[in-house]
Amino acid sequence: MSRRNPTREDMSFERDKKGVLGEFFAPVAGFGVTIASFFRPTVTEQYPFEPAHVQPRFHGRHQLNRYPDGLEKCIGCELCAWACPADAILVEAASNSPQAQYSPGERYGRVYQVNYLRCIFCGMCIEACPTRALTMSNDFELADQHRENLIYEKDQILAPLADGMLAPPHPMVEGLNDGDYYRGDVTGPTPAQVEWVRKHRPDDPSLKTVKPREEAQQ
Ligand code: SF4
Ligand code: SF4
Repeated sequence: MSRRNPTREDMSFERDKKGVLGEFFAPVAGFGVTIASFFRPTVTEQYPFEPAHVQPRFHGRHQLNRYPDGLEKCIGCELCAWACPADAILVEAASNSPQAQYSPGERYGRVYQVNYLRCIFCGMCIEACPTRALTMSNDFELADQHRENLIYEKDQILAPLADGMLAPPHPMVEGLNDGDYYRGDVTGPTPAQVEWVRKHRPDDPSLKTVKPREEAQQ
């Protein structure tokens, strides 16, 4: 069976029949979406004059978190750096000592850099972190005119002290080990920790705001 080429008549089509109203409004039908939008709520964001809203799980700037007594959660294990597909993280660990205990256990992250010229905000680093030290905030305002400013140092991503925390270094909560910290048994700084800081750094600003707790962790 031969197939004939379609003629102009075959390719023509009939326009849908419109009613009287349809014919009447046809010339301005294209404005329908625009006109309907006049009566909908305005969704224009006034950023940067007003803060922009992002979803709660948005991946923004990284944050290194703390335990409730102020010690850092990062133990300098470098798993985040190894997991990063863009090689954007640099970690250098150091040993804690009785005079300088920054995190529970033996090691802490002495150097921590995130290179935001490389980071693709995939979140694999935070998945790899065994202590939940590393999370990602909702802060997306990372643009800068200088490349060197986009390599963030530890002090730029370390979480500030929350209300009642005691600035490290200071000893761990007496009688608890790093496993107890991971399990959430620490609820705040103890009087002994506060006393230690008062003795070694009497001018530490966090001494003015610290709220020692004794219950539920001794
Ligand atoms: S979010 Fe992804 S690319 Fe960015 S530092 Fe973490 S693992 Fe690397
Ligand atoms: S942020 Fe987490 S994974 Fe990275 S070095 Fe610190 S403890 Fe290890």
